[in-house]
Amino acid sequence: MEASAPGHAGTASNQPPEFAPRDLWTTDAPLREAVEREGAAAFCSHLATYGALAGDELYSLGFDANRDRPRLRTHDRFGERIDRVEFHPHYHELMRHAIAGGVTSLSWNDRRPGAHVARAALSYLHYQAESGTSCPLTMTHAAVPALRREPALAEWAEWAAKATATVYDPADVPIARKRGVTIGMGMTEKQGGSDVRANLTRATPLGDDGGYVLSGHKWFFSAPMSDAFLVLAQAPGGLGCFLLPRWRPDGTRNGLRLMRLKDKLGDWSNASSEVEFDDAWALRIGEEGRGVPVIIEMVMLTRLDCMLGSSGLMRMALAQALHHARHRRTFGKRLVEHALMRNVLADLALEAEAALALSMRVARAVDAAPGDATEAAFARIVTAVGKYWICKRTPGFVAEALECLGGNGYVEEALLARLYRQAPLNSIWEGSGNIQCLDVLRALGREPASGQALLAELDAASGLDQHLEAATVQLRALLADPGNLPEAGARRLVAQLAMALQASVLLRAGSPAAGPFCRSRLGEGAGGAFGTLPADVGFSALLERVLP
Ligand SMILES: Cc1cc2nc3c(=O)[nH]c(=O)nc-3n(C[C@H](O)[C@H](O)[C@H](O)COP(=O)(O)OP(=O)(O)OC[C@H]3O[C@@H](n4cnc5c(N)ncnc54)[C@H](O)[C@@H]3O)c2cc1C
Repeated sequence: MEASAPGHAGTASNQPPEFAPRDLWTTDAPLREAVEREGAAAFCSHLATYGALAGDELYSLGFDANRDRPRLRTHDRFGERIDRVEFHPHYHELMRHAIAGGVTSLSWNDRRPGAHVARAALSYLHYQAESGTSCPLTMTHAAVPALRREPALAEWAEWAAKATATVYDPADVPIARKRGVTIGMGMTEKQGGSDVRANLTRATPLGDDGGYVLSGHKWFFSAPMSDAFLVLAQAPGGLGCFLLPRWRPDGTRNGLRLMRLKDKLGDWSNASSEVEFDDAWALRIGEEGRGVPVIIEMVMLTRLDCMLGSSGLMRMALAQALHHARHRRTFGKRLVEHALMRNVLADLALEAEAALALSMRVARAVDAAPGDATEAAFARIVTAVGKYWICKRTPGFVAEALECLGGNGYVEEALLARLYRQAPLNSIWEGSGNIQCLDVLRALGREPASGQALLAELDAASGLDQHLEAATVQLRALLADPGNLPEAGARRLVAQLAMALQASVLLRAGSPAAGPFCRSRLGEGAGGAFGTLPADVGFSALLERVLP
C-alpha cells in the first residue's frame, strides 16, 4: 500500500495544520479595541510588533523551555556553594525578548498616558506564548515602585534603574557588573502563606543605615535566579519589607541557600524553590512594622497580571479550539459548523472577551490612579474582584477548550495540556480565591470610596441592558450595609460584582459580546457548563469576531 493512501497509519487526514505562526495582535479584535478604548492607541505599532513575535518565535521557544525543566545546582565541582538554577537556553531567549519588548518596564519608562494599558497588553500577549517566564517578568515590573521609594540611597537608584532597563542580563554577579536585573518576592513560609503575619524569618539590624541580617526560610520562592528579592521578615519593630540581593554590596555571595526546587503540577519553565536565609544581608524598605503595606503595593500589580495572564490563557485556549474546529470534520461537517459546537465556542469567546475587557479597564485605572482618587479606589478593589473571578473561571474554560480538540487536546504535543496544567496557578498565588473575596469585604467595610467606585462603574452603563439594570439594583442593596456582609457569602457577592463589571465594560464598548454576556451571565438560569447560551443567540456574529 502506498504511504499516502487514505486510512494508512502513516497519513494524517482530517487533522488541522500547524497553529503557528500566527499574529496574536492582528487576529485579536477584542484586544485591539480594548487597547484603543482604554487610552493606549499611541502604543499600537509597538504592540503589533510584539504580537507578531509572540505568536511566532516566542510560541516556538516555549515548547523547549517547558519540556526541559530547570535544574538546581547547589554546589560547584569543588564543593563551593553556588545555589544556581540552570535553564534551557530558550528560557533565556524568552526572557531576553520580553525584557527588550518592555514587558517589565514600558509603564515605568514611558510617561505618556496609557503606558500601563500598553504594558498590560504586552503581558497578555507574552502569557499566551509562554507563561512560566511571566512570573519573573511580572515580579520585576511590580517591584519598581518599592525600589523607587528610597531615592536618597544610591543602592536604590541603581536597583530601580537596572530593573527598568530593557536589557536581560542573566549573569550571576554583583549588581555593579550587571546591566539589567530581575526581582523576585518571598513572603510564603511553611507555617503560613495567606497569613503573612505568621512569618518567622528574623531581621536583625546591623546599624542605623538600613542594613539587616536575615535568618529563616521561605517555603515558596519563585524565580530564585532573580538578582534580588523583596522579602518579609520580623524586625524588632514588627514585620518589615526588605530587599535581599543574591550578592552583598562587598561583592561576596549572600547567605541565600536554595534547598530544592518544587516539583510542580505545571509552570514548568519557571523554577520555584525552597530557600533558607543564612545570615543573609538585606536592606529595609519603608519602616519596621510597615512591611505589608509596602509589599501590597507590589501585590496589586502582580494581581492585575494574574487577571491578564488568565485572560491570555483563555484567549490562547480559545484560539487553539477554534483552529481545530475550523479544520476537523465529523459527521460530514466541520466542527465549527455544528450548532452545539458553535454554542460552546461562542460561549468561550464571550468569557475570554469579558475577562480581557475587565483586566484592561483595571489597567487604565492603574494608569490614572496617581491623579484620580476614584480610579485609585476602583483599581484597588477591582484587582481583588477580577483576580478572584477571572482566575477562578480559567481552569474550567481551558478544560472545555481542550475538549474541543477531543483526544488530541489531552496529548502533550498539543499546547492545551500545558495550558491546562498552568490554569489553576493564578488563582492560588498572590492571594488565593478566598483571600481575594475576604479582601473585597474588608475594602468595602473600611473604605467607602471602593463601594462607590464599583457602583459608579455599574451606573455608567445605566439603561443599556435590563439584566445589568436588575443586577445593579441587587448589588446596590447589598452594598448599602458594607460592614455587615456575611463572610460565608463573599464568593457569591464577588462573582456577581465581577460579572456585572464585565457587563458594564462590554456594553459601553458596544461589543457584540455584550448582549449575550448579560443574558447568559446575569439573566434567568445563568450558570452551568460552557455551551449553554440560549439557542437564539446569534453565534455567527460572536464567532466571526474571534476567528482570524
Ligand atoms: C508555583 C507556586 C509558586 C509560588 N511562588 C511564590 C513566591 O515566589 N513567593 C511567595 O511568597 N509565595 C509563592 N507561592 C506561594 C503562594 O503565594 C501561596 O501558596 C498562597 O499565598 C497560599 O498560601 P499557603 O500555600 O500557605 O496556603 P494557606 O494560607 O494555608 O491557605 C490554604 C487555603 O485556605 C484558604 N484560606 C486561608 N485563610 C482563609 C480564611 N481566613 N478564610 C477562608 N479561607 C482561607 C486559602 O484561600 C487557600 O485556598 C507560590 C505558590 C505556587 C503554587
